[in-house]
Amino acid sequence: MKSKGTAGKLEKLGLRSRFDLILHLPLRYEDETSITPPELAPVGKPVLVEARVVRAEIAYRPKRQLVVHAEGVALRFFNFYGSQVRQFERAAELGLRVRAFGEVRGGWMVHPRYRIVVEGEPLGEALTPIYSTTAGLSQAELRTLILQALDAEALDDTIPSFLREKYQLKSFEESVRLLHRPVPGVDNAAAWRRMKFDELLAHQLSMKFAYRARRSRRAPPLPGNGALVNAFLKRLPFRLTRAQARVLNEITSDLREPHPMQRLLQGDVGSGKTIIAAIACLVAADAGWQAAVMAPTEILAEQHWRKFGEWFAPLGVELAWLHGGSPKKQKKALLDAQIIIGTHALIQEGVGFARLGLAIVDEQHRFGVRQRLTLRQKADAAQPHQLMMSATPIPRTLYMTAYADLDVSTIDELPPGRQPVATRLIAAARRAEVLGRIRDAVGEGQQAYWVCPVIEESKEGLQTALETYETLVGELKGLRVALLHGRLPAEQKAAVMDDFSHNRIHLLVCTTVIEVGVDVPNASLMVIESAERFGLAQLHQLRGRVGRGARDSVCILLFGERLSDSARGRLQAIFENADGFRVAELDLKLRGQGDFLGERQSGNPLLRFADVDLDQGLVLEAQAAALQLIEQDPAAARRHVARWLGSRQELLRA
Ligand code: ADP
Ligand code: MG
Repeated sequence: MKSKGTAGKLEKLGLRSRFDLILHLPLRYEDETSITPPELAPVGKPVLVEARVVRAEIAYRPKRQLVVHAEGVALRFFNFYGSQVRQFERAAELGLRVRAFGEVRGGWMVHPRYRIVVEGEPLGEALTPIYSTTAGLSQAELRTLILQALDAEALDDTIPSFLREKYQLKSFEESVRLLHRPVPGVDNAAAWRRMKFDELLAHQLSMKFAYRARRSRRAPPLPGNGALVNAFLKRLPFRLTRAQARVLNEITSDLREPHPMQRLLQGDVGSGKTIIAAIACLVAADAGWQAAVMAPTEILAEQHWRKFGEWFAPLGVELAWLHGGSPKKQKKALLDAQIIIGTHALIQEGVGFARLGLAIVDEQHRFGVRQRLTLRQKADAAQPHQLMMSATPIPRTLYMTAYADLDVSTIDELPPGRQPVATRLIAAARRAEVLGRIRDAVGEGQQAYWVCPVIEESKEGLQTALETYETLVGELKGLRVALLHGRLPAEQKAAVMDDFSHNRIHLLVCTTVIEVGVDVPNASLMVIESAERFGLAQLHQLRGRVGRGARDSVCILLFGERLSDSARGRLQAIFENADGFRVAELDLKLRGQGDFLGERQSGNPLLRFADVDLDQGLVLEAQAAALQLIEQDPAAARRHVARWLGSRQELLRA
């Protein structure tokens, strides 16, 4: 059986059970089912060559190496053991042959995979699978373990035959066997399709189980229409749009239920999600429960605190802002407030709320799917209602795969009077022109942002922002210019944002700390320096910081020389598309699903085989199949989830 060392190596690959091994499918195959004469080997393509060994010798130029001369081909090994030298010498004496797999170049093969054989030894019938593996675990060892697992485990089908027929699925057993031991000439597309289908189905099912489980848990019913809500609605700073009124209705009717709400509120940048969050908080406060609002950045948390403060001042609601700098002693008192605002730290560090009834996560996409799922696990039997807000619309198939456990509300309309932001692409060399535009805007009483491409907010990393700031101060004499970045203390960030939001600063030079959520309607000009270095979704979010008032707004994308094709593609895409939904779809295509699913950070992919963009049709089929399977054979559904998600399942369980 597996030694302890092997188990550790398998663990590194995330392989804990026999089924994990069975589902560790090959990355590619090598064809060792036919022999190619060395002189006919194509360039750049590995082939199987067989030749009689003539002589083995150790050569010293250009460096020490084992050279094996065979008929028509020579092998060269720079790393070799003494035993290999003897093996080839013996083969030469006995007239044995070497079967080597690799590329042949000018009659040489370097470090081929090889075996000594006798003439006429039969060739394998299957292609050789190549797996992703880890140091110290050879392909051959891994292959053996996988084949053993295939033999040891019952490979019966978790998908009943009526569904296999309906979706024309190959059997599970045939599929995995074929993928691990493919037969040349037999197409394995159907087997791959089955694997992807199974994986997507497992996710659909697990999300659906989570959704149902939620209905059996308890949360405090928050009836709404209390004194605070009514007082606030009377003095609302503006009329809610139709879409806002609709989503508010959806949210309040969820809150009335004795089960935890888990709702995603999506709406493009500037569509007015904050006020909805504020009203939901009042619904909780009216019922005598606390509400917490979490934002991904301190700047955003502080802004919410300021805005809620203005809105709620006449109502006498206790509002607290919990930030990194809040003194420990004060924290306890802050946590007793009716509404608490802070960063994600709010719900980590064992922060305890006496009566948390509603948790709101703003810009939830910044936290990633995995964090959301992990977060959910923390909840006890009684659980607060949850509202997640996002300005990055989630492409439909991605949503169906990773968010199907949530209910969704969408604000699909912008507040009246909004003018679309005009996007301009300007070469960095035309800086003077851009400075002129800033002066003009300020002359008309407006404000501007200048975003610097700071990759990492370390001390050294901030150098560009500092330099840009100093240069701009020199270039724009007479204007009030300020600098904002993530490493400033919370109070200082708050002070700068407060000055900017009250028009005491004309130009805010900043890093992407302002990327999400920041709302200063009087700012109508945004300059993004080296825009080619930003991602698509990021550009859309940044651009969304302007165009929040009734005034025409402009977003200038400054770009450097020598753009790569992908950078050019991104700039083109953001220039042509103002709709956040479209941008999100393009972003999914350009970046791939990993970024969306938060896999970059975790390195543990939510989906291994299927791709929500490329396999859209399959996603839809798996969704329909999941509904039917849960209805008609819930036991099979559970078994399917267990098989597929196995050890990862805890992440997905509600
Ligand atoms: P986001 O959805 O991006 O979070 P915000 O909640 O920050 O958007 O709202 C953007 C701006 O629009 C804010 O200044 C907000 O006060 C304003 N706003 C929100 N709803 C309306 C409305 N119904 N009518 C007019 N202005 C609104
Ligand atoms: Mg917002």
